[in-house]
Amino acid sequence: MNAALSQRLGAALDDRRASTGLREDLVVAGAQGATLEVDGAALVNFAANDYLGLAADPEVLDAARLALREMGLGVAAGRVLCGTRAIHGELEAAIAELVGTEDAVLYGSCFDANLGVFSALLGPDDVVFSDELNHASLIDGIRLSSAQRRVFPHADLAALERLLAESARSRHRVIVTDGVFSMDGDIVALPELRELAQRYDAVLLVDDSHATGVLGENGAGTAEHFGFGGVDILTGTLGKALGGAAGGFVAGSRVLTQTLRQSSRPYVFTNAMAPPLAVAAATAIRLSRRRPELRERLAANTSWFRAALGELGYEMLPGQHPIIPVLLPGGTLAREVAAALRREGVLVFALTHPVVPAGAERIRVQISAAHSVEQLEFAAAAFGRVRELAVGA
Ligand SMILES: *Cc1c(COP(=O)(O)O)cnc(C)c1O
Repeated sequence: MNAALSQRLGAALDDRRASTGLREDLVVAGAQGATLEVDGAALVNFAANDYLGLAADPEVLDAARLALREMGLGVAAGRVLCGTRAIHGELEAAIAELVGTEDAVLYGSCFDANLGVFSALLGPDDVVFSDELNHASLIDGIRLSSAQRRVFPHADLAALERLLAESARSRHRVIVTDGVFSMDGDIVALPELRELAQRYDAVLLVDDSHATGVLGENGAGTAEHFGFGGVDILTGTLGKALGGAAGGFVAGSRVLTQTLRQSSRPYVFTNAMAPPLAVAAATAIRLSRRRPELRERLAANTSWFRAALGELGYEMLPGQHPIIPVLLPGGTLAREVAAALRREGVLVFALTHPVVPAGAERIRVQISAAHSVEQLEFAAAAFGRVRELAVGA
């Protein structure tokens, strides 16, 4: 490689190694499930987004196998050329039905959906209001558009309202938020946000990646959790509760989806989703609706585990979502506890500065409906054994 670039990148890596350390991917053997094989050991998995346990569901996997035999793997073309198969439309209809919108548009991932939605809809006369803790893909998608942006402090509705009032002369105002924030597991105050949006005639866009399939009686997401029908624009992923494979979507009105199909660049200029993945996601959506007991078990597992950690003296951020942030503030404590838990057979990750603020270091525990009572008890016992390291005697 070019010597100057190589030298600069090498120096930047050295700096990073010395300050925060370099990220290193954990190599897992075999399939996603309630346990994962790492270095020959089976660890109980509290680190995946497979909230309903559908990634390893035999019906999902069989449907994908059958689709592979019948339709092959890839289509080697975009949706707008010869890449579209009937299953793509069927999956879009299934997503729209799940989240309660007129239509939905598929993308390769939710990252792509968020990169593609803003620039297709907005211009320089528009203003986007974005929560400071929004997902990286929302931040990048907003930046890719020519809209003006205003970032408001996390969940600070008073600050948001001041910004909305200051932008009265813009064409469209668009409030953008995660439905569930992935670091804290907190659910956005959607009723208040919706009221603000109505008062200021603003568009409300919610990225429900951690909520679709999880929140609400039917798994429709954050809006259903609060007992109302929906928001203007919803984005989400097929890579978490809905089978855990890959894919994303934007859901909303027909005029929205028609516009995106005409001019959203990560829809038009990329390969169509491989049909076996589309079949897997459609099957996962069907199962998520047919088996409400998965959401019941997820909720029961989550409250059991929260109570168990509380009894052991662990401090957690409050919440209902299966993301449980266990606070272990200060330096490298969270990392040490995560490493000790791994030696005990429990896979969790530490989130440390700068991913979370200094002093708010934590371990993120992610509960799944696939966890058995025995696995939850095993993990709670492991948290008990590392307790002295974590919270003192
Ligand atoms: C996980 C996540 C994404 C990315 O989803 P992919 O489909 O994996 O690209 C986007 N937004 C939020 C809020 C997420 O949690």
